[in-house]
Amino acid sequence: MDLLFEKSVMDRRSELLPPLDVPETALPEQLARKTAPLLPELSEGDLSRHYSALEKRAYGVNSGFYPLGSCTMKYNPAVNEKCAKLPGFCEIHPLQPESSVQGCLAALALAEEYLTEITGMDRMTFQPAAGAQGEFTGLMLIKKYHEARGDHRRKKIIIPDSAHGTNPATVSMCGMEVVNIPSDEDGCINIERLKAAVSADTAGMMLTNPNTLGIFEKDILSITEIVHEAGGLVYYDGANLNAVMGVVRPGDMGFDIIHLNLHKTFSTPHGGGGPGCGAVGCKNFLEPYLPYPVVTKTDNGFRLDYDRPDSIGRVKGYYGNFLVVVKALAYLMTLGKEGIPLSAKTAVLNANYFMHLLKKRYTVATTGVCMHEFVISMEREKKERGVTATEIAKALIDRNIHPPTVYFPLIVKEALMVEPVETESKETLDEAARVFAEIYDAAMEDPGAVHACPQTTPIGRPDEVAAARNPVLRYRREDNDGA
Ligand SMILES: *Cc1c(COP(=O)(O)O)cnc(C)c1O
Repeated sequence: MDLLFEKSVMDRRSELLPPLDVPETALPEQLARKTAPLLPELSEGDLSRHYSALEKRAYGVNSGFYPLGSCTMKYNPAVNEKCAKLPGFCEIHPLQPESSVQGCLAALALAEEYLTEITGMDRMTFQPAAGAQGEFTGLMLIKKYHEARGDHRRKKIIIPDSAHGTNPATVSMCGMEVVNIPSDEDGCINIERLKAAVSADTAGMMLTNPNTLGIFEKDILSITEIVHEAGGLVYYDGANLNAVMGVVRPGDMGFDIIHLNLHKTFSTPHGGGGPGCGAVGCKNFLEPYLPYPVVTKTDNGFRLDYDRPDSIGRVKGYYGNFLVVVKALAYLMTLGKEGIPLSAKTAVLNANYFMHLLKKRYTVATTGVCMHEFVISMEREKKERGVTATEIAKALIDRNIHPPTVYFPLIVKEALMVEPVETESKETLDEAARVFAEIYDAAMEDPGAVHACPQTTPIGRPDEVAAARNPVLRYRREDNDGA
């Protein structure tokens, strides 16, 4: 497909901008360009076709089954969007006086109230724009806590090998050190190894729960106790709270900090780098360190509190992606006290049902029941028939199923990480299982049959190593002599 630049025809125009409603002024001479920028020039019709064609090529949760492990690709209810489009929410300016945005502040306060209740935390910030930024914020709270106590030795963060990949990356970002502990045969943390890993320089521990194998850590109370006794804090990576929300509360298990991905568990759209929210909750003793401003309730309404001398500072402009919080709030209010745990239980039921169906052919990396997701290993098939996780993933694309997460977690060889989510029906899961089985049989019978997949996409198999090592991210027009 040609790019807009390639479709461009000199002097072609479309009038998409509204008439100017402010006085026109010229740029100062020294700021003005010497030559016109090389922008694409198209008619409105061509532009419209271009974007419609792109839209048709995109695959989303509304296109079909999307079992992308760890990403919680659930249906995003339309009512969320409707709420976020209310003029009182979307036609405001972040610098408006507090008195004129009381409804927005009330929405932030209400979302905080619900989510601290669900997580068992005391306070929450919605400023981080993604899960990974939430982790960064949470670790900065840990760092600040130790520094405020004058304890400068504590620089180490314990992370099990079953954690999400962003966890160790966050530790490095915060200038701290990762202490990795390998998990047991059953995919859980080995308590003795944890005991041996904690010391006087332990700043804390990050735990992804359910972990990346889709297992709920069985010794969770001992884990938080061991870290606390060593003087560290415990961080709950709650991106996947989808499996437990409304059923158990990390705050009750001894966790001090949590981040949530509103753009996974709480049904706000994600993928493609759009706006997200990695809400961070904490216990009261960490509250002074939260990013500012925080929303506080006073006798005459809500206030934005900037006067926070111990704060770690801002992690993003203003209040984060406010409309994402509005969408999550709409979701929380739609589901209510009964719907929230039911959604988590259905996610777990769907994952176990789907795992059971796939198990007839595929090898699941863990035994027993899973939580919201499970991991398949293609190690044996690769050895015996040369059929890899990639082959299965690519073949699924041709059958209108988005592939599971591949080659993650790293502790499972030839991993396919499958998360079917609660919004899929039994019929969808049955049909998907049939497709998974059919691909498996075809690939095992004739491994060559899947090598050519996908065939329905504009690009078949790109050279992924070259793409990662030598990314070409910028289009250069031939007539643009390097400018
Ligand atoms: C998705 C995810 C993250 C990172 O969230 P982003 O919004 O992609 O930065 C962190 N931890 C876990 C367990 C996740 O599933």
